[in-house]
Amino acid sequence: MVVLKFGGTSVGKPERMRKITDLLLSTPGKKIVVLSALSGTTNTLVKIGDFLLSQSPESATREINDLEKHYEAFIKDLFTTEAYKAIGQEIVSRYFSLFRLLAAGRFDDRSYRELLAQGELISTELFYHHLQERKVSSRLLPALHFMSIDENNEPELEKISERLKPLVQTLGNVDILVTQGYICRNHTNEIDNLKRGGSDYTASLIGAAIRASEIQIWTDIDGMHNNDPRIVKKTFPIAELTFDEASELAYFGAKILHPSTIVPAQRYGVPVRLKNTMDEKAAGTLISDKGSRGQFKAIAAKDGITAINVKSSRMLLAYGFLRKVFEVFEKYKTPIDMVSTSEVAVSVTIDDARALPQIEEELKALGSIEVDKDQTIICIVGNGLAEKEGVLKQVFSTLAPVKVRMVSFGGSNNNISILLETANKEKALNLLNEGLFDLN
Ligand code: ADP
Ligand code: ASP
Ligand code: MG
Repeated sequence: MVVLKFGGTSVGKPERMRKITDLLLSTPGKKIVVLSALSGTTNTLVKIGDFLLSQSPESATREINDLEKHYEAFIKDLFTTEAYKAIGQEIVSRYFSLFRLLAAGRFDDRSYRELLAQGELISTELFYHHLQERKVSSRLLPALHFMSIDENNEPELEKISERLKPLVQTLGNVDILVTQGYICRNHTNEIDNLKRGGSDYTASLIGAAIRASEIQIWTDIDGMHNNDPRIVKKTFPIAELTFDEASELAYFGAKILHPSTIVPAQRYGVPVRLKNTMDEKAAGTLISDKGSRGQFKAIAAKDGITAINVKSSRMLLAYGFLRKVFEVFEKYKTPIDMVSTSEVAVSVTIDDARALPQIEEELKALGSIEVDKDQTIICIVGNGLAEKEGVLKQVFSTLAPVKVRMVSFGGSNNNISILLETANKEKALNLLNEGLFDLN
């Protein structure tokens, strides 16, 4: 079985949905299809939720009305027969009644999460009926019946697998199973989600849970590029990446994949293929356990990083100091990305700064604290990079015109991470693109 995930832009227009059906019909075998919400919908639902939380119901109603018009135009174009146009209208009316009901009630965090889930529920329901209209053998597979996260918001892969396998088996005679990306239930059984961009993660979790032969992520670009195409002009798609390389790129900001996507696929060795819905002939990127070594493969950047420096002469010749520092972060459930130490100081970076005031307060007991906000981690990735001769020289001579705040090398054989001010990111990414890749 193959799992195919189509992102927001791939389902965002009626002609794109029709194209997905053509594509599915030309792909042999049984498939699980994971869909995102139509492009722009989750952003609008976030806006509506924010208006309702901040007691601005009129603004929320305006957004709901505009979104409804968008969906009404969408179904008129998507469905061809009067009978299915009526089904489409019934679906849209039902969802928008729910939005108005949620908006009229006591709006809290729980209603917010329920609202956010509607984007994927409506896109899959519309797509399923489009398949019905075209007489394609298919069924809806509700993600809220099998996708779950625990009290630490971690997906429960074993439980997901236990629930999903029998569901898929009983539907053995159906060619296409359509399910929602992004949404799940949490440990109190409430509706929740896998964070923004989470449909990629859903596809990978399903692929791992049923031990699929392949997970395909269909999006609006021809695979993982060597650098961020939104910032750097001359980027190119990479044909093959290892799981480790892709995992680091996703974690360190390559937006094409949700940060955790590769983890479940890698655990069960299920290859992940990135493909372009707008250009299905393009080769895309294959992510597996194979790949060449000793080359610069790609660069990603993660913004919103805070660097914290703890300086103390008590660190000199003492043991247990680092443990005390790390314990503070552990206490506030704040993961650390980069670490750099000297005899008298340690610098760490975090991207979740919600507990920063408390962390700072407790670290003060250990030494003097300096905090730098608005930092970016640039992650240069390549399988076996550390073995490549002259690798650091090449990186640092390329980056000579930019001020670097911190460097991490040697922790993994696959990456060199560099911390700098976000204001210098664009310059650094472009310099590295010119300096590390043969662009001719
Ligand atoms: P989808 O809606 O299909 O999930 P996303 O917008 O989440 O699509 O991801 C695709 C986008 O990721 C591309 O349009 C591109 O702008 C951006 N992107 C950022 N970094 C990379 C990269 N290294 N390679 C390819 N695309 C990238
Ligand atoms: N619709 C969700 C979002 O926009 C999930 C996804 O598209 O992957 O974040
Ligand atoms: Mg995405």
